[in-house]
Amino acid sequence: MENYLESRDTIGVNDAVLLNDTSNRADFIENLKKRFKGDIIYTYIGPVLISVNPYKDLPIYGADYVKKYHNVNFIEVAPHVFGLTDNAYRQLKEEKRDQCILIAGESGSGKTEASKKILQYIASVSKNFPTVESTKDKLLKSNPLLEAFGNAQTNRNDNSSRFGKYMDIEFDFRGNPIGGHILKYLLEKSRVVVQSTGERNFHVFYQLLAGCDDSVLEKLQLSRSPSDYHYLKQGNVKSSSSEDAKQFEIVSSAMDTLGFESKEKHEVLQIVAAVLHVGNVQFKQDGNHAKVTTHDVIASASKLLGCTVEKLTKAFTFKTIEARGDFVTSPLSHEQSLYARDALAKAIYERLFSWLVGRLNDSLKSNYEDRKTLMGILDIYGFEIFEANSFEQFCINYCNEKLQQLFIELTLKSEQEEYRREGIEWEHIEYFNNKVICDLIEEKHKGIISILDEECLRPGEPSDFSFLEKMDKSLSTHPHYISHKKATNAVRKSLTRDEFRLDHYAGTVTYKVHGFLDKNNDLLFRDLKETIGQSTNNILQSIFPLSELQRKKRPDTAATQFKQSLNQLMDILMSKEPSYIRCIKPNEFKKSAVFELEIVDHQVKYLGLMENLRVRRAGFAYRRTYDTFLERYKSLCPKTWPKFQGTDRDGVYVLMKHLGYNQDHFRMGKSKIFIRHAQTLFAIEDRFQL
Ligand code: ATP
Ligand code: MG
Repeated sequence: MENYLESRDTIGVNDAVLLNDTSNRADFIENLKKRFKGDIIYTYIGPVLISVNPYKDLPIYGADYVKKYHNVNFIEVAPHVFGLTDNAYRQLKEEKRDQCILIAGESGSGKTEASKKILQYIASVSKNFPTVESTKDKLLKSNPLLEAFGNAQTNRNDNSSRFGKYMDIEFDFRGNPIGGHILKYLLEKSRVVVQSTGERNFHVFYQLLAGCDDSVLEKLQLSRSPSDYHYLKQGNVKSSSSEDAKQFEIVSSAMDTLGFESKEKHEVLQIVAAVLHVGNVQFKQDGNHAKVTTHDVIASASKLLGCTVEKLTKAFTFKTIEARGDFVTSPLSHEQSLYARDALAKAIYERLFSWLVGRLNDSLKSNYEDRKTLMGILDIYGFEIFEANSFEQFCINYCNEKLQQLFIELTLKSEQEEYRREGIEWEHIEYFNNKVICDLIEEKHKGIISILDEECLRPGEPSDFSFLEKMDKSLSTHPHYISHKKATNAVRKSLTRDEFRLDHYAGTVTYKVHGFLDKNNDLLFRDLKETIGQSTNNILQSIFPLSELQRKKRPDTAATQFKQSLNQLMDILMSKEPSYIRCIKPNEFKKSAVFELEIVDHQVKYLGLMENLRVRRAGFAYRRTYDTFLERYKSLCPKTWPKFQGTDRDGVYVLMKHLGYNQDHFRMGKSKIFIRHAQTLFAIEDRFQL
C-alpha cells in the first residue's frame, strides 16, 4: 500500500486505475513516460502488467528482487514481472489452480525476455531437489535451442521470435517443476529462402558456420563465410561471427543437457547444412525444361540429405502426378525448378523445427503419476501492419483477434465472477466485442478461411484473383470487409485491385492477395517427398514418412490447420486462470531512454489498454480485503483505533461512515471493500497528512 502513496508523490502512479477519472490516453501514456524516464518500466492496470522495453540492462532481476517479491501480495509492492509471476505461482500452489500468463506486444517489445524472467523466477523460488534441478535446467536450456532455430535478426528486433510459443511448466503437488510441454505456432518458413534487406535467416545457420569445429565443417562440406550461401546473403547483414560462435557452444551444450545423442546432433547439423547446399543449386533452361548447372553443389546436398545425386536431380527437374492410379511424369521449367528447390528447403526446415519441438517435449516429459498443476506461458507474435501484408500477417492478425476476444471475455468474466463471489450486483459494461471480426475470418462456409479453402480445392484454374472475387461477392456487405469493388471513391484510390482491407479491432490492414492460394495449399511435389522419405538420415526419414504418399485425402490447408490449433489454444487458455503482460516498445531504433509518443500511442491503442482500463474502472476501481484495509486506515477513526471490537468487515463499515462516505462511493463485498473511484482512496490517504 505504501507504494501507492510513494508513487503518487514521486514518479506517476503504479496503477493506471489511480489516474484521475477524467484522464485520457495521453494522460495514460504520460504516466508511462514519466516512469520510463525514471527507469520504472512496469505499471499495472489492475492486475494487468504493462512493461515498457528499457533497451538496457536494469539491476532489477537479481536475487534481491526475487526475495522482495517472494510470497508478497503483488498489489502491495511496486509493479514487476516477478510480482505477477509470484501471484500466479502462489495461486497454483495454494489453490492447485492451473495458471497461464499471456504476453502480448509487437515485435521487439520484450515478450520473450519477459517469458524468460518468469522462468527464472520460478526456477529461483522452487525447491532444489536433484530431480527438480534437472527439470529446471532443461526448461531453461530449451530456450537457446528453440531460439537458434526459430529466431532471427530482423529490422525490428535482433532476436526476433519467428514462431508463436506456448509452454506449459508442470508442477507436482508441492509446487515444484517436474516437466514441461511446448506447443509452437506458424514458423515463418519463408525466411529460410528469402530475407529482406537488413535481416538475417534463422540464427542456427550462422552459428553453425561460425562455431563448429573444422573437422565438422569439412564433413558438412561448408565454408565459414555466410556470403557463400544464397540463402544467407540476401539481407546483406554484417553479422558478428564471434557472437554466433559463442551461441553455437551454448546451443550445443543445451542439446547435451536435453539428452540429444551425438548421432542425433550430427544428423540435425547435417540437415541444416543440407538446406544451405540446396539453396546454392542452380538451373538453366534447356529446351522446354530445366537442367542442374551446379554439379558439385547438388552432390554435397544429396550426400547430406542421404539420397543419390540422380534422385535429387530428378526430383528438382521433373514432377510426377498421380491420376487415377497412373503416374505421369513431366519436366519442370527453370522457374518451376527454382520453386521446387525453395519449397523443399522450406519444408525440410519447418519439419525439422517441428521435430525439435517434439524432441524437446520428450526430454521435458515427466513420469509423475499424480495430478499435475500447470503454468502456461504464451509468447506469441503481436498484431502486424506492414507496408505489404500477406497471408502470414493475415494469420498473425487473426490470432490476435482471437486473443483479444479471449482477453475481453476473461477480464469481464473474472470481474463478473469476483462481483458474484463477493455478493455485489453486476453493472453492465459497454465494450466493443470483436467476435464479429473473428467470425468474418473463421466462420464455417462463410468466413474468409472457408472461401480461401474452397478456392484452393476448386477444380479449374483458381487464382488469387478468383479468391478475391469470391470474397467480394460473399462479403461485400460485411462492415469489417472493404474491397476495391465496394469502397467509396476516396478509399478506392488508396486500394489497388489486388488488395482487400480488414477493419481489425486494432486498426485497418490492407492485404495483398498475391500468394494466398499457394501459401494456403502448401504443397510439395511428391517426387521430393519420396526422395527425402527414402533418406538414410533417420530424422529426415521420420519427418517425411512415405506413408504420406499413400494418403488419399488431401491434408488440411495451412489456414485451416492454423485455425484448428488456435481454437485448441483458446480451449487450453480458457481452462486456466489467466494473468496478462502487455509489452510496449518505446521507439523503433532499439535505443534506450528514447520514448516516442506516436509509437507508444499506436501500441496502447491496439493492445486495447484503454478499453481494459475502462472495464476496470467502470465498476469499482479499487478493492481490498477488509483486514488489509482496516489495518492501514484504522487510525483515522476513534472507534477503530487502536483496535475495533468486532469483525474487520464491520470495522471497515464504521470507518467509511465515520469518514463521511455514502453507499455510492463504495460497496461491501463478502471479504473485500470495493471503492468506486480512485479519488475516494486518495481523499482517505490525504487524511494522514491532516
Ligand atoms: P519478437 O516478437 O520479435 O520476438 P519480443 O517481444 O519477443 O519480439 P524480445 O526479444 O523479448 O522482444 O526483446 C527485444 C530486445 O529488447 C531484447 O533482445 C533485449 O535487448 C531488449 N529487452 C527486452 N526486454 C528487456 C528488459 N526487461 N530489460 C532489458 N532489455 C530488454
Ligand atoms: Mg520474441
